[in-house]
Amino acid sequence: MRFVDEFRDAELGRAVAAEILAAVEPGRHYKIMEVCGGHTHSIYKYGVDDLLPSNVELVHGPGCPVCVIPMGRVDDGIAVAHHEGVIFACFGDMIRVPGSAGTLLEAKAEGADVRMVYSPLDALRIARQNPDRQVVFFAIGFETTAPSTALTLKRAKAEGLRNFSCLCNHVTIVPPLRALLESPDLRLDGFIGPGHVCTVVGARPFEFIPADYRKPVVISGFEPLDLLQSVHMIMRQLGLGRSDVEVQYSRVVPYEGNLRALEVMAEVFELRPHFEWRGLGFISQSALRLTAAYADFDAEVRYEVPGVRVADPKACQCGEVLKGVIKPWECKVFGTACTPEHAIGTCMVSPEGACAAYYNYGRFAREREVV
Ligand code: SF4
Repeated sequence: MRFVDEFRDAELGRAVAAEILAAVEPGRHYKIMEVCGGHTHSIYKYGVDDLLPSNVELVHGPGCPVCVIPMGRVDDGIAVAHHEGVIFACFGDMIRVPGSAGTLLEAKAEGADVRMVYSPLDALRIARQNPDRQVVFFAIGFETTAPSTALTLKRAKAEGLRNFSCLCNHVTIVPPLRALLESPDLRLDGFIGPGHVCTVVGARPFEFIPADYRKPVVISGFEPLDLLQSVHMIMRQLGLGRSDVEVQYSRVVPYEGNLRALEVMAEVFELRPHFEWRGLGFISQSALRLTAAYADFDAEVRYEVPGVRVADPKACQCGEVLKGVIKPWECKVFGTACTPEHAIGTCMVSPEGACAAYYNYGRFAREREVV
């Protein structure tokens, strides 16, 4: 298949791996963060890290949209789902994310009308089919999915639908990256930038990383050769003492982003003053809410939501995983009390979560010789 097969060529992969090996300084340990959960998934699915020299370490970032939703927001969703007459629509992985007193799936078992959808337009269709019921869409995701929510809300407004609203949990990727770069916990050499987010926002929002922190960023695609080439581009920058934003995923990412999508987002959303991220705490201006023009479609205006901050379970180390401070298998409950079937934390629920990627591809520990 075009744009797939040629990016999975094993021989080419080994050739790029040899170039990476030639570019590393022996004795130096490199830490590169892959920001996006989709990258984490590809790295372990295809064994990309097995092709890297042992002194090049990939660490996982906060770019899994389900993983970063805090327990309090799940509780808010469950409270709305229990309202009389509400049909609560959400994505399939969100339905299993634990709140403080259970999941949306458990709320469904208790009688709430919770339905799994594949897109916000599915939720809109349910609203059209059920004019006597209120339909609430639980919107999650980074800038990748925010435009589809925005377009759905524009359509609902244009159609004059009065039984559709959105509980908005869309988040933005730059503020948590800045928070990570300010964290004393983590020393990073460079970033594999989030290819999907950048199809919308472009590469320019990441220029602060080389400008303020002198670290290279390479916006990457999701196939094994994309990732290997991105690591090589980072190594090349480091070797030359450069730090720039480069786009490896140029077949999809325009440097300035998708201007039409950004325009629609600006019409429908505005930044929240602050938002809680699971394991990362409150981060200023890191999430979106509906503008006043869309207040009629805002579930937080329409319903009373508890809005309570709930601490993560003691055993849960998702925060450290999301910050790249520990590997999933270093969490005390990984693969024992916490599995995809019985998840304690969000990183085990979402297919983009680092813990789920490690678990599903059998990475229960990692030991490599140092070059
Ligand atoms: S193993 Fe479970 S509790 Fe531990 S970090 Fe991963 S998802 Fe969180």
